Amino acid sequence: MMLYKLVILGDRSVGKTYDPFTEESYRKQVIIDDNPCVLEILDAGAEDIFLYYQWIRDGEGFLIMYSISSRSTFERVEQFHDQIIRVKENEPVPIMLVGNKCDKITEREVSREEGMDMARKLRCDFIESSAKTAVNVERAFYGVVKMIRQNREGGKDSRRNRKKVRCVIL
Ligand code: GDP
Ligand code: MG
Repeated sequence: MMLYKLVILGDRSVGKTYDPFTEESYRKQVIIDDNPCVLEILDAGAEDIFLYYQWIRDGEGFLIMYSISSRSTFERVEQFHDQIIRVKENEPVPIMLVGNKCDKITEREVSREEGMDMARKLRCDFIESSAKTAVNVERAFYGVVKMIRQNREGGKDSRRNRKKVRCVIL
């Protein structure tokens, strides 16, 4: 079975490990496009900076997460992106920008347009999700898996070549 190593980066409390019973790192068996596969998902909220970079080095696909109800978490997005690019030494790597907590409509501080603009700037995909109401969570992960797959199959549609931002929002 295919194994995909995914890493979630993001500021504290954005929703990286929503389920309080899951560990910081866990494996999940799923079926994507008829192919059974295993996702190894890591919430890289590590305090240990050495471990943190090790995880980025090992990761094949990334979710950079912020909370739509917290502008300060959005302001850290580029920093996380820089870290990935630096560790991966500019090799194209699948990244999904995730605006989580989209159920908090009345507390929104970051608009969808701002999220989309950021994704366009970083040349990654974009999705708004809610871990609380289980909206778009799977699509966020599956989107990254599909990008990894395309890379493994020859990288013709690699992130660097792709200009258009694919966008899925509520
Ligand atoms: P982490 O530090 O990024 O791992 O954040 P957590 O996953 O521990 O979530 C931090 C807090 O935000 C917890 O109280 C969660 O219940 C809450 N939370 C996470 N995701 C959502 C979401 O999509 N919507 C709402 N309303 N709350 C969320
Ligand atoms: Mg966490």
